[in-house]
Amino acid sequence: MKLGLYGGTFDPIHNGHTHLITQLLQLGIVDRLLVVPAGEPRLRENAPKASGAQRRTMCQLAINDLPPEIRSKVEINPIEILRMGPSYTIDTVEAVAQAYPDDEIILIVGTDAYEKFDQWHRVDELMKLVTLEIIQRPGTIGDLARDIDAIDVSATQVRLHQSDQLSPSVANYIKENNLYVS
Ligand code: ATP
Repeated sequence: MKLGLYGGTFDPIHNGHTHLITQLLQLGIVDRLLVVPAGEPRLRENAPKASGAQRRTMCQLAINDLPPEIRSKVEINPIEILRMGPSYTIDTVEAVAQAYPDDEIILIVGTDAYEKFDQWHRVDELMKLVTLEIIQRPGTIGDLARDIDAIDVSATQVRLHQSDQLSPSVANYIKENNLYVS
């Protein structure tokens, strides 16, 4: 079984993320997928605007809006949100490897995240535990990356109200909770 591990800040989760999730499953790149919202992301200048609990809820809402054949293969994993302090991918991967000893772990990273890959904590050990799948994001160049016809949207644009590429339930949640109002 190919188990995908897809981490991110997801502040908020948007259609670019859910399109990627759908493609990973439809193209058979992974058989199942764990979506892991980050607790306190390193390598980011600004802390997330929404809390860990809110970002986790939005991830679940976005997955619930997907068709059943996709949704049934995706799980939101709160391990990094429940962990205190900074989250390192290696810690998450070690925990997942222990919980799913028979699976191949496919680590999903967009080209922008991959650019900082050499700064990741214990990256050599990480590479022994996972197969890396680098996903092409619009506006980035990466010959090695997989082209999934990605949607040109970022969470930054959503927070700045420059994009409404959100699933209906997430859009409602943001409104009801007054998230991302300046
Ligand atoms: P921000 O604008 O706040 O930096 P983001 O939109 O880049 O957020 P993240 O939560 O940082 O979203 O991204 C999580 C992962 O999803 C990263 O590996 C990133 O490269 C990837 N990703 C984000 N947006 C897209 C997109 N539109 N298409 C494909 N991959 C994406």
